[in-house]
Amino acid sequence: MSEPARYDVIIAGAGPAGSTAGYLLSRAGLKVLIIDKSTFPRKKLCAGLITYKTVRLLERVFGETVDSLKEKGLINYESNGYELYCRDRLITGRTIDVPFRFIDRESYDHFLLNKAREAGASVIEGDGVGLRSLNILKSAVRTNSGKEYSADIIIGADGVNSRIRRSFLVDLFGREDWSGNLASAHEIFIRRESTGKQLEHPALFFDYVDWGYAWVFPNRERLKIGMCALKKKNKDDILSSFRTFLSEMKFNEMGEEKIHSYVLPYGSFLPTPVFRNVFLVGDAAGFADPLLGEGIYYAQRSAELASLAILDVMHDRRGQSKPLEALATAYINLLRQHIFTEFEYAGKIRKVIFTYLNMSRYFPLKILMGLLGDMPVETVHGIRSYKWMKKL
Ligand SMILES: Cc1cc2nc3c(=O)[nH]c(=O)nc-3n(C[C@H](O)[C@H](O)[C@H](O)COP(=O)(O)OP(=O)(O)OC[C@H]3O[C@@H](n4cnc5c(N)ncnc54)[C@H](O)[C@@H]3O)c2cc1C
Repeated sequence: MSEPARYDVIIAGAGPAGSTAGYLLSRAGLKVLIIDKSTFPRKKLCAGLITYKTVRLLERVFGETVDSLKEKGLINYESNGYELYCRDRLITGRTIDVPFRFIDRESYDHFLLNKAREAGASVIEGDGVGLRSLNILKSAVRTNSGKEYSADIIIGADGVNSRIRRSFLVDLFGREDWSGNLASAHEIFIRRESTGKQLEHPALFFDYVDWGYAWVFPNRERLKIGMCALKKKNKDDILSSFRTFLSEMKFNEMGEEKIHSYVLPYGSFLPTPVFRNVFLVGDAAGFADPLLGEGIYYAQRSAELASLAILDVMHDRRGQSKPLEALATAYINLLRQHIFTEFEYAGKIRKVIFTYLNMSRYFPLKILMGLLGDMPVETVHGIRSYKWMKKL
């Protein structure tokens, strides 16, 4: 039998996480293969909000500025304002210097994958990896069409339902709160002019659902309206709560299409997302912010950190024979330093917010948010760390 084609790194999944890792590793001269079950451009259910820290990452990693992203039509809307509501009552509405920006995942993800391809990555589209695709002993991956590829390192960037993660039975025997911290997310798109309302700023709505929230995000042509909430905390069906929200906001029956639904990792991050020479990035490892579910930044940031660890270890292995086990330690240390502390604080704040945020506390909340000023939103943007909140 012929030997499988050999790479330095195989990446399963070409979302923001997979393409960012593919770009960085190819640019550094490694032989990289990216495999995605979809053919790009492909749709991905997402509200498309990116924060300041994401914009900075895009500049640092890809050399793309806000202006260049706007010129390419990738940032399709931005807003300096934002609003927070407890049901239909405004808690706070402020204007900030740093705007929230919005992208469409179809073009954003396609753009990032092309960046990886231009940097030298080989890409297979329309052929995925299955549950039994991973051969740990051979360090190889077999695609659904039966082709086999091997590599020194394999990265699982195949999203929240990751087949690579499931190969290790993490969902069954791993950290018990993986499934307990999955959220159901529902979203609908409405043409802006059909609402008859002036909706210029992103708005979040609390108290329509337990341990979750609804959003209305304006894009250039459309409104993206959605809701996400922890499955285990909602006895009632989250989809019904979303329909109630749409009805109370008078958005029902305006959708271009039906309601779309997906799963979101919402506090389910894995503290040790490495198994031998296989490791997980982005949603595959549950790397979305536990408070708001922001995942695009953490997908790209974890991919950047994984790439740093790989390049460090691969470089040394070639030069001075550093053991491959050093990779796991290097990646986990970087995650602890740059992501996990933020997630831990975000998780604590989430507990307070979702325990106390309801109509009966509307006035104290309004006063508190008034006193905090821009600090919460600066934290979401990554301008300040979540840690300041421990003083509250
Ligand atoms: C409704 C909703 C709204 C959201 N809104 C926001 C938001 O506004 N801002 C934000 O920052 N985050 C948001 N998120 C979270 C964000 O979408 C994710 O965190 C982000 O997409 C994670 O990126 P990723 O690259 O890890 O995974 P993904 O984007 O899911 O990419 C995974 C890739 O792997 C491929 N794949 C899957 N299975 C296989 C397989 N078996 N073999 C090969 N390839 C495979 C897929 O085709 C896909 O291309 C939202 C999520 C949802 C559900």
